[in-house]
Amino acid sequence: MIKPQGIGMTSQRTRDRLVQRLRAEGIRKPAVLDAIGATPRHLFVDEALASRAYEDTALPIGLGQTISQPYIVARMTELLLEVSPGKVLEVGTGSGYQAAVLARLVDKVYSTERIEELASQARQRFRKLGYRNVRVQHSDGTWGWPQFAPFDAIIVTAGGEEIPQALLEQLAVGGRLVMPLGGRTRQTLVTVTRTPTVYERVDLEPVVFVPLIGDAG
Ligand code: SAH
Repeated sequence: MIKPQGIGMTSQRTRDRLVQRLRAEGIRKPAVLDAIGATPRHLFVDEALASRAYEDTALPIGLGQTISQPYIVARMTELLLEVSPGKVLEVGTGSGYQAAVLARLVDKVYSTERIEELASQARQRFRKLGYRNVRVQHSDGTWGWPQFAPFDAIIVTAGGEEIPQALLEQLAVGGRLVMPLGGRTRQTLVTVTRTPTVYERVDLEPVVFVPLIGDAG
């Protein structure tokens, strides 16, 4: 029997339309657009929301959390790729979608999630979909993941008031961190690039993320 929603909503064509839209919105790196086009976002949300998976919008993933808007995923990924990272740390696995996009572009993704249920769901997804270069840990990511530091890039997908010190320390020289910084309801997307002598911060556009909750956040 053909499912009522049909394959149409989740087909390659639907995904390609999202890619076109992101391009129109200013995402330029072909590698990033290709990775978005190749990642089945509908498998990272609840089945009931699958038909909306290729809209450029954040969607609820339960437990008060959200899967980020594709534009933001693409934008943050572009900013990270500017330093050609091999090893990336993500704070806030959530659905696992951002990690899955990164997994197509870098050697290894280490992702931390403070909600155990989300961490284990994401792990199952990666196993089922055959992502072998993503490792998920249930932990407070404001402490980073010291065992695998330093990281060439660090992406924080929840908004905090300040950058956790541990993350700055675990950023490799030449590496870059990208994170929403600000209050609980609104933040500014910020990049921090570590040079041999300083951390260079650049403030970019306004964004809206769920809060970073942690000891060092
Ligand atoms: N990158 C995700 C977006 C997740 S929303 C995706 O692609 O779907 C942000 C996530 O950060 C939530 O799941 C939340 O539980 C998690 N989070 C918040 N504070 C955290 C912390 N201190 N350590 C790890 N994860 C945290």
